[in-house]
Parts: sequence; C-alpha cells; structure tokens
Amino acid sequence: MSNRRNFLKYSGLAAGSLILPKAISATERNPTIKTKSGKPASMKLRFRPYDLQLKHVFTIANNSRTTTPVMLTELEYDGLIGYGEASMPPYLGESHKTAAEFLSKVDLSSYNDPFEIEDIIQYIDSIAVGNYAAKASVDIALHDLVGKIVKQPWHKLWGLNRTKTPNTSFTIGIDTPEVVKEKVKEAEIYKILKVKLGRENDKEMIKTIRSVTNKPICVDVNQGWKDKQMALEMIQWLATQGVVFVEQPMSKLAVDDIAWLTLNSPLPIIADEAVQTVNDVAGLNKIYSGINIKLMKCGGMRNANKMALIAKAMGMKVMIGCMTETSCAVSAAAQLSPLADWADLDGNLLISNDIYEGTKVVDGKIILSDLPGIGIRLK
Ligand code: MG
Repeated sequence: MSNRRNFLKYSGLAAGSLILPKAISATERNPTIKTKSGKPASMKLRFRPYDLQLKHVFTIANNSRTTTPVMLTELEYDGLIGYGEASMPPYLGESHKTAAEFLSKVDLSSYNDPFEIEDIIQYIDSIAVGNYAAKASVDIALHDLVGKIVKQPWHKLWGLNRTKTPNTSFTIGIDTPEVVKEKVKEAEIYKILKVKLGRENDKEMIKTIRSVTNKPICVDVNQGWKDKQMALEMIQWLATQGVVFVEQPMSKLAVDDIAWLTLNSPLPIIADEAVQTVNDVAGLNKIYSGINIKLMKCGGMRNANKMALIAKAMGMKVMIGCMTETSCAVSAAAQLSPLADWADLDGNLLISNDIYEGTKVVDGKIILSDLPGIGIRLK
C-alpha cells in the first residue's frame, strides 16, 4: 500500500522536534478506559499530501485555478481509523508545507480517550495560531473515529433529523454565455444554483442563466463590489430575478457599508470571508443576516456546530459551505446540514479524483449515508 507508506513517511516528520507542555500520563488521566485489547491505547495521527484535480477551471472574483492541494489525515486508535482532510485553496494562506509543519507538532500520546473531544480540540488549537484547515483535518478524523467507536453517524449523535438536509446549490463559475448555458444544463439535478458575481458582466451572467432556467439562484460576490449604493441597486435588481440571498457583497473590512446594505437589502446578506470561527459570530449579528460556516475556516466539526448554534440563537441564518474537497470533508460538513437554512456542499462534485464516497446528492438534496462517524468509506 503506497498510501500507507506515504502516511508513514510524512508522519515521520513528527519525531523528536517538539517542545510542548508536559501533560499527565494517559493512564493517570483516565485509568478506566477499556480498549478491545484490554490495554490502554493511544491515538496515532498520519497525514499525506494530495492534489485534487478540478473538472473545470474554477474562477472567482480574484483568481482562477485547476487544482487544490489537500492534506489527508488518518487517526488510528484501537484498531479503528478516523479519516480527516485539510483543503487549502492557495488564497487562504495554508499549503502542504504549512499543514505538514503543523501536523508534525500534534502529539496525542497523552490522550487515550478519544471522547475527550473538547480537551483534544483545545490542545490542537493551542499548538499554533491560524492553521484552521490543518486543525480541521485532525478534528474531522477525531469525529470520524469517535463515531466509529460508538457505531453512529454524527448527525445522530447531534440529535439531528436526517430527512431535514437542505438542497445543495451547485456553483456556476464566471464564463462565456455559451459555457454558462452548458454548465446550467449539466446542473440539471440541482434545485438551486450558485453564481459567482463581482465582475463587469454581473447582469449578463444572471440574464444568461435566466434564459435557460427559472431555478432559484444564490449569489456570491466574494467581496467584489466596491460601492454600497451600486451594491444595493444590484441587489434590488437581483431580487426581481429569483435570487435567494447574496454572499459577501463587499469587502469584509467595509463593516459600516455592509451593515447599511443588510438594513436596506430586500435579500439576506450572508458573511463568508468576514467570518472565520466561533468568536466571530456574535459580532456579526445585525451586520449580516447570516453566516457561511466552513470546516476549513473554523477548524472543524466541533467549532462549526458551536457556530451554527450561536447564530441560530441570535436569529441569524446558517449556511454550510465547503472548499473543493474530497467526500471526506464534504461528508463531515453534511452531518451538520440538517441545522442549516442553505447548503453549498458541492466541493466533491467538482473534482475528478475523489478517493472516498459518502454523502450523496439525489435530486439536488443532500443524502447522508448510514455509515458511522462522518459517513464515508474508501472507494
Ligand atoms: Mg463565498
């Protein structure tokens, strides 16, 4: 198994170079833990880099690309393996190198109880600032492992109704009218389309899509609009075109302008670039109508769940999104999707070399698998 060899090779980076606070020993922490073998077990983290191949060139307001680097993780404990993933689109600042450096510092030898998720995630977070995708790759693997130990998927452990998963939107990138029409046809099974705006031809994009379908559209501007008055006029026009909401219309730094837009907009305004993790959510109330939660931004499933609960408690809308990812990270996010008003979980559908299978999309709706943990298996 060359994959296993790669995992071992990269996890070899971890040896020896660490200075971390000395924790109490595993048996002192939890002397009662029982493993299948009857001996105290420890968690072993492995990781290896992988490049996702995109089916189409992916264009958003600021850049275009054809691959996305990811780091695949495995967390082994007592004969079970939890799978995780870090997806690192280059504009977010993480890379194979930074993730390998971060993951090399992870030492779980003092934790012999995977159920101590809160403590373990706090430790992972304390290793270094940032590195949210790398942190998510450990968090997802830990959740997958714990779900496998109790033989239940996370939507059940969270008490969520699996029939309440939303439809996922399917992203139509910025392109020529001919290509856009073709992509809309390819997206036939999806009930809601997502369109990236923030260029000169915004109205043309919407009109092109409207020439071939009446499906609801959600719009992501990726901070592309510069003037609040122009943004409001555009949103008012979009509201007449069957658009459902607008994501990150202006720079995340234009806080006053966005608060004004949200107050006056006929459509909900959703924060994406403006929201990173748990601590950001409360401060965005009244500035945005809702937040787009992504595991790679917030550090994983535990933080994503906290964010969703905080936002809902404040009456904000919740959207669950993703990067281009394999079915690993997408299925992990999908576990939370019954809590979401909208989902944009098409990242695994945009790549040609997924190594996992898990969450499916049937007639546009997210269908959670019966598998435990994050609900995936290797293809
Ligand atoms: Mg976005």
